[in-house]
Amino acid sequence: MKLILPFFMVMLFNSALAQNDSVRATVKPVLVIHGGAGTILKKNMTPEKERAYQDGLLAALDKGYAILKRGGSALDAVEAAVRSMEDNPLFNAGKGAVFTHEGKNEMDAAIMNGRTLAAGSVAGVTTIRNPITAARAVMEKSQHVMMTGKGAEAFARLQGLEIVDPSYFYTEERWKGLERVKKEDSAKTELDHGSKPTSGLKQPENKDSKYGTVGAVALDIQGNLAAATSTGGMTNKRYNRVGDAPIIGAGTYASNATCAISCTGWGEFFIRLVMAKTVSDMMEFGNRSLEESALEMIQKRLPALGGDGGLIAVDKAGNFTMPFNTEGMYRGSVDREGKVTVKIYKD
Ligand code: ASP
Repeated sequence: MKLILPFFMVMLFNSALAQNDSVRATVKPVLVIHGGAGTILKKNMTPEKERAYQDGLLAALDKGYAILKRGGSALDAVEAAVRSMEDNPLFNAGKGAVFTHEGKNEMDAAIMNGRTLAAGSVAGVTTIRNPITAARAVMEKSQHVMMTGKGAEAFARLQGLEIVDPSYFYTEERWKGLERVKKEDSAKTELDHGSKPTSGLKQPENKDSKYGTVGAVALDIQGNLAAATSTGGMTNKRYNRVGDAPIIGAGTYASNATCAISCTGWGEFFIRLVMAKTVSDMMEFGNRSLEESALEMIQKRLPALGGDGGLIAVDKAGNFTMPFNTEGMYRGSVDREGKVTVKIYKD
């Protein structure tokens, strides 16, 4: 008996462990990111630039997936992936954000926790090094969901976040981008994306027109979903224009009941379509799959209004999709099997 009892207990203990492990192991983490959609054509790209974008995407995946792999939360993973792209001048978020008409960098960001439906966002901030971390602070350290401009900056400072001089965000490429768009604009003033989101409005005839917003969505081993988006908005924007990225339900949304989504594209259309929440609602109330819902919105409803762009999304089972109706979208994923993929152009 003396011998049997401990043995029996060990067996029990082992089987409990095995059960725990198998419960955990049923949710394999997934991370999907984007670095913006737009007229991204191989013929306009140098091999060096292509490599740099791929490296930037891989670095962001690496940062986020390391967290998921060691059992960290989807929330931490999406924040880390987005921070990595905010710090990379190639992307239109944080360092490398596009310029407003007045030559400033005004940034928007949002984050959402699919488990609790808690959300936080900042809009029109000019001195916060990592707007996505400020969005998270709004979500976790305040009673609010959205803060803008000077108020958001004062709050971020109080929370001890890194504050920088606005010149930190300057990049020569984005400055040239503003000058180019302004030139096109003075010839055709109606081509201001931000101020006239009218149906049928033509985009500026800018061969390099792209929306470099960054975003990440993740599923962690606990089965929780999260989404994060960060952007400098659109080049030459005026009047403190705010896009879809910081609007919960438009450019960013996450619910454990359905999926986590981050969008990129012509923001006015994403706001009008309440893009991210609509995809989620199609799944929740229309019983449609993630793939079907996202495709319908991006390939049908969005172009029907005259808008363009794309999104990334992952559902609670770890299925993910990355549809876009532009020439390309910087994007990457680590799937359930741990397979890493980065892509730029259409397949
Ligand atoms: N959606 C962003 C905005 O309209 C732009 C982007 O995706 O780059 O502000």
